[in-house]
Amino acid sequence: MRLVLKKNDGLLKKIKAISGEDIYACYQCGMCSAGCPMGQEMDLLPNQVIRLLQIGAERQVLHCRTVWLCASCFTCTARCPKGVNLARLMEGVRLFLLRTQKEDHFSPQQMVKEPLPPIALIGALRKFTT
Ligand code: SF4
Ligand code: SF4
Repeated sequence: MRLVLKKNDGLLKKIKAISGEDIYACYQCGMCSAGCPMGQEMDLLPNQVIRLLQIGAERQVLHCRTVWLCASCFTCTARCPKGVNLARLMEGVRLFLLRTQKEDHFSPQQMVKEPLPPIALIGALRKFTT
């Protein structure tokens, strides 16, 4: 990934502003990751994504595959006992990358070629909302 960002650039602040989520509400119960249908393919589980953001390791989140594999199915959001909308947070990270780095991992051309399930198409389309 060609991500070049300066230190102390308010990265976390920007992700929080885009997503509108309070990452500190999470107490790491793992319910989100236990129900995530894409968990086995991810390099970071959903609860690990939010933990890394909590401890200020947001650059690791920006370099992970997880946010691009997230299908925006909202299972994590429905399961979270603290009301954290993790699906929206994943979208926030994607939007941050799309807006600042023009980073993308899925083109409309691929969507037409690949035999994808409807939820994958919906999730992918939501990645083109900028
Ligand atoms: S379900 Fe909610 S509180 Fe539990 S780890 Fe996931 S985001 Fe955090
Ligand atoms: S919205 Fe994304 S992170 Fe949440 S359960 Fe669905 S695929 Fe997993």
